[in-house]
Order: sequence, then structure tokens, then C-alpha cells
Amino acid sequence: MEQSNAQKLTLLAATNNAGKLVEIKEILAPYFADVLSAKQANVFIDVDEDADTFLGNAIKKAEEFCKASGMAAVADDSGLCIDALNGEPGVYSARYMGEGHTDAERTQFVLDKLADVPEGKRTARFVSAAVIVMPDGTRYSALGTCEGKIGFEPKGENGFGYDPVFIPEGEDRAFSQMTDEEKNAISHRGRAMRLLAEKLMRGECD
Ligand code: IMP
Repeated sequence: MEQSNAQKLTLLAATNNAGKLVEIKEILAPYFADVLSAKQANVFIDVDEDADTFLGNAIKKAEEFCKASGMAAVADDSGLCIDALNGEPGVYSARYMGEGHTDAERTQFVLDKLADVPEGKRTARFVSAAVIVMPDGTRYSALGTCEGKIGFEPKGENGFGYDPVFIPEGEDRAFSQMTDEEKNAISHRGRAMRLLAEKLMRGECD
């Protein structure tokens, strides 16, 4: 799809996560006509994220939101992989500790697990799989990562999820201490979504 055609396309964001929605809208704004929330498109579905990879879950979300709406849908499946926890919470990032907990509780759970882990061994990365599914079934996908480390206490007010404890490489601030613009410029989601938009414009489908 040419750049001029992409700029005429309105996408549906295949997510019920308010924090992700804000970021996806901001990151994709230069490439597409608009990105609608599920609420704006009157799509009320809950996708069972039962695949064991980020890409598998992102494909599932994009396909189901596309089918339910008839619109081109963009999905992100993402998570935090912590080396000292053998890659946990990974694909289970949203459900670490089980259902019914807050972002703050999950963040504290991670800090408690890392209580005895010294600074040099707190390396981690955020991973995002980004997928667009078109109504004709054509699919585009891209991956993005952001290397960093886990801090010793939550800091900052912005963002969502594990942002208060994730300090990206080359920074001394956590994601939560950055503006949306600063985070999106270096985040896993920013990288995956920009690559995805570029692949779509080059016609590089899966
Ligand atoms: P899912 O992609 O809906 O399975 O959820 C991903 C989960 O990973 C979120 O609920 C957060 O807990 C975490 N996560 C993913 N990306 C970010 C981010 O940019 N900041 C903080 N936490 C994130």
C-alpha cells in the first residue's frame, strides 16, 4: 500500500487497554487517517489470549477485532521479560499473579521477587508484536524490543503497567518519568508499530 493510501486508511485498535490505546494512537498518527478505539467502533469483545507467543496473541486479537468490525485492525501483544526470572512474566505480563490485580500490585510483586538481585543482574526487555489484519485477510506483522533494567522502587506517574520500574538502556529515568513522546521514541511498541506501518506501505505482508 502506497503512503498516500495508508493515509486514507482508518484502523481499529484491537485492545481494551487504555494505556496501550493512547500510545498506539500517538505512534500511528503520522501514518494513517485515524485509529479508533473499540468503544468508538462499537466493538465489545474480549479475546482469549491463549497463544504462547507475543506474535500468536497479536494475530489472534487483530483477526478477531477485524472480523467483529469489518475494519482493518491493529493489535499489540507485549510484555516484560526479566532475565533474573528466566524471562518471566513474558506473555503472562498482564496476568502475572492471576486475574483481578492492579498494575501497582503486579509491579510490587516483581520488585519483591527481585529483592535480592543486585543492580548488574536486573536486566530486562520489553517486547511487542504488532499486527495489522485487513478485511481481505492480508496480514502484516513486526516485532520491537526495548532493552533496560528493573529499578529498586516505583518512580514517576506516567504510562501504565510496569512503566514505574522499567529503566531503558542509556537512561536513568523509568518509563513513567518520561513524556509519552519520549517513551514512544524508544519503546518496544514505538519500534514495532513504526516498522509495521513501513512494512504495510512497502507491501511486505506475512
Ligand atoms: P497484553 O499485551 O494485553 O497481554 O498485555 C501486556 C502487558 O504487559 C500489559 O498489561 C503490561 O502489564 C505489560 N506491558 C506491555 N507493554 C508495556 C509498557 O509499555 N509499559 C508497561 N507495561 C507494559
